[in-house]
Amino acid sequence: MPSFFTSRVPSVARLPIFAALALCTTLPAMSQDKVLNLYSARHYQTDEVMYDTFTKTTGIKINRIDADDAGILARLRAEGSASPADVVLLVDAARLTAADAQGLFQPIQSAKLQAAIPATLRAAATPQGTTWYGFSTRARVIVYDPKRVRAEDVATYEQLSDPKLKGLLCTRSGSHPYQLSLFSTVVERLGDAKGEAWLKGLVDNMARAPKGGDTDQIKAVASGECGVAITNTYYAARLLKSDKAEDKAVMEKVRVVFPNQGTSGTHVNISGGAVAKHAKNRDNAILFMEYLASPFAQNYFANGNNEYPAVTGVKVDNAALTAIGSNGFKAETVPLNVVAKNVTKVQQMLDRVGYK
Ligand code: FE
Repeated sequence: MPSFFTSRVPSVARLPIFAALALCTTLPAMSQDKVLNLYSARHYQTDEVMYDTFTKTTGIKINRIDADDAGILARLRAEGSASPADVVLLVDAARLTAADAQGLFQPIQSAKLQAAIPATLRAAATPQGTTWYGFSTRARVIVYDPKRVRAEDVATYEQLSDPKLKGLLCTRSGSHPYQLSLFSTVVERLGDAKGEAWLKGLVDNMARAPKGGDTDQIKAVASGECGVAITNTYYAARLLKSDKAEDKAVMEKVRVVFPNQGTSGTHVNISGGAVAKHAKNRDNAILFMEYLASPFAQNYFANGNNEYPAVTGVKVDNAALTAIGSNGFKAETVPLNVVAKNVTKVQQMLDRVGYK
């Protein structure tokens, strides 16, 4: 039996049936000892093996609701205290901190999670415990067109606001969680005045108004619409692994830079989870969270979306991530929980500098 199982015995308490739960048609209306209700914004085939193994090892059945991040948060708010959710998996620190700020999570005490997940990749600890934990990481990197931009001019995030790059920069919306998390850590490092000046510089350098997702930014660099853009690593890995010739051709036209290697390190974000505020199967929820931090689950959790494991010392073999230069890169050490502190301020800065 794996070590994640040994320290915790599932609760034997039977909780009352909540009338409101009868309205929920897709999850069991009754709290049970051997059940875990999971709300997940992840939807990768490899995750199935990870969930099945948990059930085989513990006897705890997982009922899963898959939805996008916004859908999960809306559902949790609508369900309130009647929510059957035990564990919530979301993507990006900005979304996790937003859910936390809305009171949708509860703090837990787990020595195993505190030991396994680096302090930079989890919520700030309070006397009651910690709410969200990161279970996989992704780096936010720069892609550029080597025909139009020199590598030495895009070695840092700071350089993206240099007038040298005027008319060359493409990004997705400044208010997207991926951008808000990155900007929150940049502002933490540079301070408010320099941080806002940097954001203004990005706006001044734009090739076009922000639009599209990360993959669209990579394709826009390949097509010549932009000279430089920002993306999460797994989108680049996905294009590299694609069976489509046109996707591979995109990656042949661009170069990937892990920014700030000589200084503060590349911004790293997470896919992570927390125990839901009104979890009826709380012990099972903590057990599942600890399982996600086990080396076995870490492999599936990371590889399913071409991400990196959050737990130090766990390695995954992913040729596409290696090909874009992931091995041994220096990650930023600013803790992701600064997003909670800075995100409102960053949004106000974006409004002031006209970053749509
Ligand atoms: Fe994404």
